[in-house]
Amino acid sequence: MNVLIVEDEQNLSREIGIFLQKENYTCDFAGNRKDASEKIFVNNYDFILLDLGLPDGDGMTLIEEARNAEKEASFIILTARGATDDKIAGLNLGADDYVAKPFSLPELHSRMQAITRRRHGLKKNTITFFDFTMDIPNRSVRFGDKEVTLTKKEFDILHYLLLNKNRVLTRLQLTEHIWGNILEDDYDSNYMDVHIKNLRKKLSAFAETDWLETVRGIGYKVSMK
Ligand code: CA
Repeated sequence: MNVLIVEDEQNLSREIGIFLQKENYTCDFAGNRKDASEKIFVNNYDFILLDLGLPDGDGMTLIEEARNAEKEASFIILTARGATDDKIAGLNLGADDYVAKPFSLPELHSRMQAITRRRHGLKKNTITFFDFTMDIPNRSVRFGDKEVTLTKKEFDILHYLLLNKNRVLTRLQLTEHIWGNILEDDYDSNYMDVHIKNLRKKLSAFAETDWLETVRGIGYKVSMK
């Protein structure tokens, strides 16, 4: 998943970035309101971690901007401890959660995971699909008691397709989600096709994969009830 970290305290921003990258997130950074606003407008993030006190203004307005531009990113406000008004105002504007500084990085991460579950209607950290089970925290996929060995990218692609089941994802959407924001000139849709092909091959060693559909000229879809 890709994350924009909007924070002017560079050390904190870097620390969050390093932690989340280890957890397989792709991170982008903005140190002021203007930069954040531009990035939010151009890109599609899964999460935006938002400090409110930015050098060129209040971060709160970014939530409204993103919502007006119909961006789907989940916002988590990074707030000073006890700033209750900020929390309420942020949640009212459509933020998904907040953490009070200083916060622990694992806490931030578990809140992000909880938001992902809520967004996609999951009750737990595993997804069962056909005879496979995906364990999200352990980043593993099993077929019965057998492990399906996937690369990081294959796991992330499958995870994202499963979260968005029955919805066609374009190659570009998938690519943005997995690799973060890419320049259009560097974009090669063949990468995604190769990963999907490998993914199908690995899964079909265990069972049929006709549910992992190619939507001609558009992208991919996981079809399931
Ligand atoms: Ca600040």
